[in-house]
Amino acid sequence: MQNVTKVFSNGTLALKDMSLDVRPGEFISLLGPSGCGKSTALRIIAGLGDASSGSIDWPSSKINAKGLPEGDVGFVFQEPTLMPWSTVFGNVHLPLKLRGVSKSAARQKVMEGLESVGLADFADAYPRELSGGMKMRVSIARAIVTRPKLLLMDEPFAALDEITRQKLNDDVLKLWEQFGVTVIFVTHSVYESAYLSNRIVVMRARPGQVYADLEVVQPRV
Ligand code: ADP
Ligand code: ADP
Repeated sequence: MQNVTKVFSNGTLALKDMSLDVRPGEFISLLGPSGCGKSTALRIIAGLGDASSGSIDWPSSKINAKGLPEGDVGFVFQEPTLMPWSTVFGNVHLPLKLRGVSKSAARQKVMEGLESVGLADFADAYPRELSGGMKMRVSIARAIVTRPKLLLMDEPFAALDEITRQKLNDDVLKLWEQFGVTVIFVTHSVYESAYLSNRIVVMRARPGQVYADLEVVQPRV
């Protein structure tokens, strides 16, 4: 992110001159109080919103018409946002389906994705049959099924109880190690950011600006 400023149409200044240089393989937590612009920053990185000024620069040469690297970004929203009419398999298949990969051709990748979040036995279940934590796991499997190089997560476990949340944090760490994916994880939890990341980028209250960029020495690394 190069000097990104975002002013919404109602005049709200959400980000002010934000710059962030993300290195491959990092696990970054974007930490700050509610309303400081974390989601806005993540959505702009994902191409889900435009910057008012500044730019998002990708190293890849394979940039599509929207200025995003083809197939390289996975996004996990705060809500699992599953299609209720489709099975767990169907939901995880969706990103591949949108890329023209049939169910049979996608089977191995979808099942690998489900295995990596411990839900292989639930491929034929429907979202309504799953707990909140399981739905979140499906949403993570859907985000990684295309093997993105960058995984963006927007306060993914905020609505879950502490124990489920801790389990899911461990799942995310496993995926990070397994797939070598670069992660940007939005949170307002100091604990979560310290537990998960190699690097904590702290934003101050609105208008969003980075005021600390901390390397974390994790015992596991
Ligand atoms: P965070 O994710 O850190 O809680 P957000 O990025 O969601 O913060 O919001 C940053 C600021 O921008 C807040 O003041 C919020 O009210 C405002 N905001 C977010 N989305 C919009 C929008 N679509 N229109 C107007 N203001 C918005
Ligand atoms: P899958 O076989 O991938 O699980 P379905 O057979 O349930 O998916 O549905 C096929 C497609 O039809 C879905 O991907 C979806 O786009 C569409 N579809 C099915 N039911 C609905 C619905 N109630 N509303 C909108 N679209 C639907």
